[in-house]
Amino acid sequence: MKIEILSLFPEMFQGVLHESIMKRAQEKGEVDFAVVNFRDYTTNKHNKVDDYPYGGGAGMVLTPQPIFDAVADLKAQSECTPKVILMTPQGRPFTQKIAEELAQEEHLILVCGHYEGFDERIVEHLADDELSIGDYVLTGGELAAMVVTDAVVRLLDDVIEHDSHANDSFSMGMLEYPHYTRPADYQGMAVPDVLLSGHHKNIEQWRHEQALIRTAKRRPDLLANITLTADEQQLIAPFLTVSSSVQKK
Ligand code: SAH
Repeated sequence: MKIEILSLFPEMFQGVLHESIMKRAQEKGEVDFAVVNFRDYTTNKHNKVDDYPYGGGAGMVLTPQPIFDAVADLKAQSECTPKVILMTPQGRPFTQKIAEELAQEEHLILVCGHYEGFDERIVEHLADDELSIGDYVLTGGELAAMVVTDAVVRLLDDVIEHDSHANDSFSMGMLEYPHYTRPADYQGMAVPDVLLSGHHKNIEQWRHEQALIRTAKRRPDLLANITLTADEQQLIAPFLTVSSSVQKK
């Protein structure tokens, strides 16, 4: 897979794309990253990428020319039809499901906005999709592009152990069960006995129940999308009272 990121601040990506699992994914040839500064595509004398908004108001707006030309150039060099995605708080809320869909693509072009954002013609005529990483406003799309890249790349074949994402939070439509590692007793805080029992079936059952209970306690909204057996409904019923809250008590 190829992921190209259009940004005015390419240096911001150095650490994120060249450390840890993202670095390994690239070394294994699972992904090829390129960060391109769309300022390099400006045709005006001062390499300006933004201008005042028509109609007045605060802030600057990213002009169409550099972004249209940068995307056209990257598309011309691509062997397939890349998917052009704008990072914007007005986009579709990014989820694990969208990460799974994007992991099937061959080539993504993520465009990072800045200032007041994009001229609307970029949104209407250049973007195939728009993604938001949450209901808050960042100064630029770089952190959002990093979040999307990280979530997508960890799903690619051979990047991390396959089993580890089957159970990940959200993959099964609920939160993942709690994890414990050595020591079995840390300063009087003990690991649940079942996990030390070596009884795989019981462990699997316990984990499934824990995943359901914590989803009921923390994210009851997620349960609307999964079908529960009568036993499962009974198990979580006590946690679905009025006191259920997404906030940790
Ligand atoms: N005035 C715009 C916000 C601009 S923020 C509005 O109200 O919609 C500047 C840039 O940061 C955006 O163009 C976008 O690329 C990025 N950005 C900010 N918040 C974001 C979010 N929640 N998700 C994705 N990108 C975001």
